[in-house]
Amino acid sequence: MSEAAQAQTMGFQTEAKQLLHLMIHSMYSNPDIFLRELISNASDAADKLRFEALEHPELYEDDPDLVVRIDIDSDANTITISDNGIGMSRDEAIANLGTIARSGTAEFLGSLSGDQKSDSQLIGQFGVGFYSGFLVADKIVVETRRANAPTSEGVSWSCDGEAEFTVDAIDRKERGTSVILHLKDDAKDYANDWRLRSLVKKYSDHIAVPVEMLETLPPKSADEKGEEDKEEAEIVPQYERVNSATALWTRPRKDIKDEEYQEFYKHVSHDFQDAMSWSHNRVEGKLDYTSLVYIPAHAPHDLYNRDVARGLKLYIQRTFIMDDAEQFLPLYLRFIKGVVDCSDLPLNVSREILQSSPAVDSIRAALVKRVLDMLDTLAKEKPDEYKTIWETFGSVLKEGPGEDFANRERIAGLLRFATTRSDDAMVSLADYIATMKPDQDKIYYLVGDNESASRNSAYLEIFRKKGIEVLIMFDRIDEWTMSHLQEFDGKSLQDISRGELDLGKLADEEKDEDSSDKPEDSDAVVGKIKEVLGDRVADVRTTNRLTESPACLVLGQDEMGSQMRKIMEAAGQAMPESKPVLEVNAEHVLIQRLRDESDSDKTADLVGLLYDQAALSAGEQLDNPALFVKRLNRLLFEA
Ligand code: ADP
Ligand code: MG
Repeated sequence: MSEAAQAQTMGFQTEAKQLLHLMIHSMYSNPDIFLRELISNASDAADKLRFEALEHPELYEDDPDLVVRIDIDSDANTITISDNGIGMSRDEAIANLGTIARSGTAEFLGSLSGDQKSDSQLIGQFGVGFYSGFLVADKIVVETRRANAPTSEGVSWSCDGEAEFTVDAIDRKERGTSVILHLKDDAKDYANDWRLRSLVKKYSDHIAVPVEMLETLPPKSADEKGEEDKEEAEIVPQYERVNSATALWTRPRKDIKDEEYQEFYKHVSHDFQDAMSWSHNRVEGKLDYTSLVYIPAHAPHDLYNRDVARGLKLYIQRTFIMDDAEQFLPLYLRFIKGVVDCSDLPLNVSREILQSSPAVDSIRAALVKRVLDMLDTLAKEKPDEYKTIWETFGSVLKEGPGEDFANRERIAGLLRFATTRSDDAMVSLADYIATMKPDQDKIYYLVGDNESASRNSAYLEIFRKKGIEVLIMFDRIDEWTMSHLQEFDGKSLQDISRGELDLGKLADEEKDEDSSDKPEDSDAVVGKIKEVLGDRVADVRTTNRLTESPACLVLGQDEMGSQMRKIMEAAGQAMPESKPVLEVNAEHVLIQRLRDESDSDKTADLVGLLYDQAALSAGEQLDNPALFVKRLNRLLFEA
């Protein structure tokens, strides 16, 4: 007997087992969703068949009308959801129903806390699809036959929700899949015609394939009953359509309720929670297409994996073509979900063709605009929602300026930054400009390793003194993002830890106060420091940045910053040597002490400490920490 004909009992993949268990325990409060998930799978199976049949029409096997049927057997306490879609081979049933192929499943499970409430949020993000059947069933039997496979290659897969499942060969005439749910005792109420119809209407009305149930015959009235009993018995109930069975995006916007948009979102995104916002548009003209794009309300567990599947579900003239058509959206909008249905592409389109299609390019450009508009409008009209979007997807949007030149300014307008203005406000570049000082012509910002290091940075001293706002950045990607943004709204963006600080007219105000400055003295001390540091620095000069600290390190305007440098070095890239400029605060007692010091050993100690503390406060590592400690202690003992 060949293996394919044998009954075979197999253990679930560990992850599948864990997920199954978790799902049952965390989603139990909303068991209704099982029907939506199973109908969603049946609809996907119909889509797949229609697509494969473009090239292989024989897959239809003389049964071209795709349909999903729901049957109830109240004696056996079962509900059966059947489709005549693509079906599954034995191997496919084992792989698709017994393992979880999605990337990152293990990490996902690792991130669960064991706390029911937060875990159920997480599991919602992950999506559990088929397994949701176990919310209402204690046993699920799946009978399936792949399109065009011989009837003898039917497969039965069954599982009682525990650690194992069994697959067996069966004869199956019907193409496609039947999922038979053996209802749990406390879920028997689901074997109810009216209840299932209302669930289909509520959750699956938008599914393009018809969902049918047996018509409910009117109960015979008392007088009819007595009459022609024989004829009555001949009436056999017929299947009738329960949902509207028109692809949601093809309907006019005004006829679609918010709840319908939300249910459709869950179908296309495999998300269990509502979307934050959406935009539905039909474009007619040189190109005809319809798009429906959603902004999710939370991040998927693998948002930061740039290789993960993304993009839109592509339909061509309502025929499903592919999931995750990534050519329609750039990487920095990878969190957007939805569909695009285009009439101008050939049905046999491939990913390669999409890549080089001018039609796709212009749809993509239009979709990007649409999404940016959507974000813009939310930012203006619903700042609270935008705040959530920013907290969830902000770091991904920050990839935008470097990736999408054409929309740089628009993306920059969507960015939000921490600021010295307040401890918790997040401001836009436009907010910043609106409250700039009258004489100010630049947008000042500082990139640091973390929030508290940045907020307390010595580079901020002069800005604090003069009451000039500085944007504070401490996200890993910030330095890279800012390297692609030179200006916004005609104002240049200035990193305050780089170059010679030119405060323009803002500097003049206090010129007179600084009359204690004695240039000859500072020249002398600068010379002394230079001599000790030699070629460790590009230069030494007096600073206008500091009011409290004695010294700071400054990078050249176009040099790579330390954040990027660390990332590149960690990735094994050899970086060109870069030397900072040491700027010293001539007013500071330490500098004055140095000026008056004549002993060369002590001078070396002081200069060394000066340099090292500047490096430390810039978040750098010291080349020779032990020497720093020795010097510090020498100085302390002396005092
Ligand atoms: P998802 O739908 O997110 O892929 P599910 O857990 O809902 O995850 O389903 C797992 C897989 O099982 C599907 O991707 C599909 O390959 C397969 N599957 C489930 N139901 C059917 C069906 N009715 N017909 C064909 N394949 C199915
Ligand atoms: Mg599914």
